[in-house]
Amino acid sequence: MLKKSFGQHLLVSEGVLKEIARLLKIDSQDVLLEIGGGTGNLTKVLLRHNPAKLIVVELDRDMVRRLKEIEDERLEVIQDDAKSLQICRLADELKVVGNLPYNAASLILENIILHRRCIPFGVFMFQKEVALRLCGKGDLSWLSVFLRTFYEVRYEMSVPARFFKPPPRVQSGVISISRKDAPFEETEDYKRFLTGVFAHRRKKLGKKLPQEVLRRAGIETDRRVDGLELEEFITLYRELRS
Ligand code: SAH
Repeated sequence: MLKKSFGQHLLVSEGVLKEIARLLKIDSQDVLLEIGGGTGNLTKVLLRHNPAKLIVVELDRDMVRRLKEIEDERLEVIQDDAKSLQICRLADELKVVGNLPYNAASLILENIILHRRCIPFGVFMFQKEVALRLCGKGDLSWLSVFLRTFYEVRYEMSVPARFFKPPPRVQSGVISISRKDAPFEETEDYKRFLTGVFAHRRKKLGKKLPQEVLRRAGIETDRRVDGLELEEFITLYRELRS
């Protein structure tokens, strides 16, 4: 029985599963973390690529039981919530992958960004619109800016609903993320800054930020968050904190 509340839409296309595994460029030294293992469709394909270790985190007890039936000494299954999992306690470095439950996907991604020090690379399935936004296409979101500040983000492919069981109501999209040199280390404070400037997004920046900060950043007071480039958010944050 699949549970809607857990966002369970199993990916049943062998072709897409293989492509996700290929995008991870798995080598025999890699420790992988899979988020939301479900019945193990992706888990089994990942194991075929011979990682050193594969840790699967899954929230649903019934799914955890099924995942534990996969016999493989490289596999470790943990029952936990990926929104709050202490990822860097699992290993010094992990590649993270998952066909994310769409109702929790943003909060899971946020947790991943918070743990970026141990996550150089990841591949994730989101609902297509969200995936595009995270890549900086379409409407901006604070999370898209947050993600792209710390990771290079690529839109890899679209996945039609019919490749899932049961098919979700939306199309899906896969992105990959590669960590880049961070412009600064602050995370919580930067998040507060972004969520703050994104609130009342139609309001002009001049009404949200000190004139002096905008002037130093070279950004006109009548601009709005929509239309700001990634670099401008970073400059604004730096000027605000300097
Ligand atoms: N990877 C599988 C299942 C994807 S569906 C496949 O592609 O077939 C998403 C899975 O995430 C479900 O199994 C669901 O139970 C699990 N899940 C939902 N919320 C979660 C959370 N907060 N933390 C970890 N797993 C979660």
